[in-house]
Amino acid sequence: MSVRTIITPDNEVLRKKARRVADFADEKLQRLIDDMVETMLDAPGVGLAAPQVAESQRVIVIRLPDDEESLEEYGRDAGILHVVVNPEIIKSSRDTVEGVEACLSIPGFFGKVDRHVAVTVKGQDRHGRDIRIKARDWLARVFQHEIDHLDGVLYIDKASEIWRASPEGEATEE
Ligand code: ZN
Repeated sequence: MSVRTIITPDNEVLRKKARRVADFADEKLQRLIDDMVETMLDAPGVGLAAPQVAESQRVIVIRLPDDEESLEEYGRDAGILHVVVNPEIIKSSRDTVEGVEACLSIPGFFGKVDRHVAVTVKGQDRHGRDIRIKARDWLARVFQHEIDHLDGVLYIDKASEIWRASPEGEATEE
């Protein structure tokens, strides 16, 4: 496994619609998934989409942290690794909620984005088996953010407000 370089919007791959994965026996796919997990944890981030490491394929990985504070905040969603290939949102709650997002491909910024409170995602696991995930709250937000990446959509396209992080890394509204 290795940590890959996370690309920024100056690389056009980030804005391309990624292609569906068909060959699950491909060793390169398995290596990509392992590297994506390692890259996400190294960053550290809570989610990563393949286009962010310049691979235009429909693959996302998500893991909410499981430190003490996160356990309180995310409950049973904390620390669970989700690897979803060809993910698709098949159901969204009517209710939406604004939340503050950041993106490993747009370092140093935060933005306020309206997202569905809950979504149902279907797709395949890394071996091609069908999976379905019901996500709520923060996990649902991360799924929506990562799946947008597969269509070349960034959170800054949807944000009602964007601001720069302070030098200390704290979110400061301007
Ligand atoms: Zn992102």
